Amino acid sequence: MTPYKLLLLPGDGIGPEVMGEAGRIIAWINARGLAKIETETDLVGGCAYDSHGQAISEATMSKALAADAVMLGAVGGPKWDGVPYDQRPEAGLLRLRKDLDLFANLRPAICYPALADASSLKRDRVDGLDIMIVRELTGGVYFGEPKMITDLGNGQKRAVDTQVYQTSEIERIAIVALDLARERKRLVHSADKRNVMKTGVLWNEVVTKLHKERYGDVTLHHILADNCAMQLVRAPKQFDVIVTDNLFGDMLSDEAAMLTGSLGMLPSASLGEADAKGHRRALYEPVHGSAPDIAGKGAANPIATIASLAMCLRYSFFLGETADRIEAAISKVLDQGLRTADIAQDSCCTVGTKEMGEAIVAALDRGE
Ligand code: NAD
Repeated sequence: MTPYKLLLLPGDGIGPEVMGEAGRIIAWINARGLAKIETETDLVGGCAYDSHGQAISEATMSKALAADAVMLGAVGGPKWDGVPYDQRPEAGLLRLRKDLDLFANLRPAICYPALADASSLKRDRVDGLDIMIVRELTGGVYFGEPKMITDLGNGQKRAVDTQVYQTSEIERIAIVALDLARERKRLVHSADKRNVMKTGVLWNEVVTKLHKERYGDVTLHHILADNCAMQLVRAPKQFDVIVTDNLFGDMLSDEAAMLTGSLGMLPSASLGEADAKGHRRALYEPVHGSAPDIAGKGAANPIATIASLAMCLRYSFFLGETADRIEAAISKVLDQGLRTADIAQDSCCTVGTKEMGEAIVAALDRGE
């Protein structure tokens, strides 16, 4: 059995608590002989700054580059508000994304039936929702040059951000989305603003050409990004995979996320270029932050982190069946009425971080 090297970076605040529960699932997988996952744990964020004055050390970066995948808990907190900008906790996360060249951000929005009433939409609109938003992460207006504020000298200033994409950047993110669609419902919506932006015109052209040449088995729809935002709250179940640029992806993935209930439920994956064997550099992390308000209380919801581990198994270790089992176990535990405080409901039993992790392992055991 090929051993997989997984670097765990629990980080700050609730990061170590929720990562501990992912560790419990990894131990279960290893003990059942479903895979051989070798983990190593290291520092990132504020705790790394406290230890050696940097949000991530060169030694940790080398480990991240050598690992088959990296899992991160969360970084940051008020303790580090005053540290130099370049060493702020988030700098560790940004360095990981940049040096691993993680250009594809995958954010699933899954609405577990037991939590459908926690959504801001009516149950029938979201029950069973399962969307994957694929956001381009390293290009577009967040990084384009020029990017500056100029003093015009007459009491006025002028700010410029530049939206820029080239063919190869659009192609590689579209390939990720179209490949993913083949493992799902074979349906992709590509969201752009070709009606008003040149980058939208090119985006549309490149995705159309790629689809025509290589993905005839996948249905592709083009949708204007503003209409996509509207359709997500009108009839979200019409979507399967949505692919879009960095800016629109930032907005649309947050919008889709809130259809599903709580921040504590949302996993994510950030992927790099595939090598000849189909292996990609990858970082898996919950969408939430370090939640300083509840850190150390054993109350954090570990489901986002455990679901991020399931994504790691599926996309980095090619263990789709084990990932399915973990997701099914999460669903079963919610059906049983167990809830952490962030998703608490009347008539349900509120449990802590550890109890939720233990219940998921028990459900995995029963599912055998
Ligand atoms: P947050 O996500 O940490 O918390 C927002 C709210 O959601 C809080 O009330 C928190 O208690 C709750 N919450 C979050 N995750 C939860 C979980 N798993 N279980 C139960 N409740 C949960 O966002 P914030 O308060 O804006 O930021 C706190 C710190 O985290 C800041 O320093 C911020 O910079 C950092 N942050 C880090 C990341 C990251 O590491 N990727 C992301 C966002 C924010």
